[in-house]
Amino acid sequence: MTDWGALRAALNRIIDPETGEGLIDSGKLKSLDVDAAGKASLVIEVSPDLAPGFEPLRQDVEAVAQQVRGISAAQAILTAEAASKNPEPKTPLSKPEPVATAKPKLSGVRNILAVASGKGGVGKSTLSLNLALLLKEQGLKVGLLDADIYGPSVPKLTGLEGRRPLGNSQNHAIPLDAFGLQVLSIGFMLKDASTAMIWRGPMVQQALMQLLKQAQWGPSQSDPRPLDVLIIDMPPGTGDVQLSLAQQVAVAGAVVVSTPQDLALQDARKGISLFEKVEIPVLGLIENMASFVCANCGTTHAIFGQGGVEAEAKALGLPFLGAVPLTLALRAASDAGTPLPVTAPDDPALTQLRHIARALVPSLS
Ligand code: ADP
Repeated sequence: MTDWGALRAALNRIIDPETGEGLIDSGKLKSLDVDAAGKASLVIEVSPDLAPGFEPLRQDVEAVAQQVRGISAAQAILTAEAASKNPEPKTPLSKPEPVATAKPKLSGVRNILAVASGKGGVGKSTLSLNLALLLKEQGLKVGLLDADIYGPSVPKLTGLEGRRPLGNSQNHAIPLDAFGLQVLSIGFMLKDASTAMIWRGPMVQQALMQLLKQAQWGPSQSDPRPLDVLIIDMPPGTGDVQLSLAQQVAVAGAVVVSTPQDLALQDARKGISLFEKVEIPVLGLIENMASFVCANCGTTHAIFGQGGVEAEAKALGLPFLGAVPLTLALRAASDAGTPLPVTAPDDPALTQLRHIARALVPSLS
């Protein structure tokens, strides 16, 4: 059991260097949560120019929280202040608070759709790109932001590896064009795709904000319309990026991709509960790679059984959006950087994804 009293007292003994008050009294601790395994997640809000000076405080918070009875690990992140001109009234934190609710719309974008998974390798990036192309097929203007800090794969999936976006007159990145989509990837910010990056909380925050806010999404010289939807390929798991995103911009909804294996499902459940906490509606679950469609005979083999993710969706009271089979063509198209809607629009995996894309359209304003 977490000793909440001790936790709050310990955190309030850490002095906010800006105001000289304890961290809780200063109102900068915006969220404090401890999961069933005793992992504490803390969000500290500071104005962006002060963020570098708060790194030692962030480390202290993690160290102090870990000392408290019932806490097995602690992760603290710094986020930019949402409304520095009108600070919230300072009320002592008496219980875990939800993450900030004031969420402005991203300029040039009508809807943000997050594609998430609890675990890597379940096909999240592959489905993000193909869903983006299929929503475009529905007549929508679509962008794709690859925020997967652990393995940005959109440059490879779109054949844009090694390319660098140009800046406009305000030094905002102009998204690259990939088969009619506006695309930016955290991969374009790395020197080379194989660079292993160790991202710290504030770096993740900064990189994501740059890709979101210092980018020319939507209107371009040739087409003044905003994006109808910006798909964000999220990093797997439940970490800084999800929290930052939830705090900074209005997200229309999230879809969660899972394979039917138990572990992937367990992780997906954690992802779903995080979205619920940060008030992002989960539009539904997609099952990927449960079955295999033979390219020669067209027979479907239910390698991992049938209905695993659907049953999970039912148990969680969430919509099941559909099952995408494993096909050779989808794997080959991904490796070649020429997406399936361009090379094989009638592939069975794509047919399923097309139903899913159509089902998502009404959720987008
Ligand atoms: P994630 O983004 O979840 O880490 P990826 O999208 O990179 O996963 O997919 C992992 C691998 O699985 C890639 O090689 C991709 O081509 C392949 N893949 C994903 N979904 C399918 C599918 N339905 N059919 C065939 N290959 C798939």
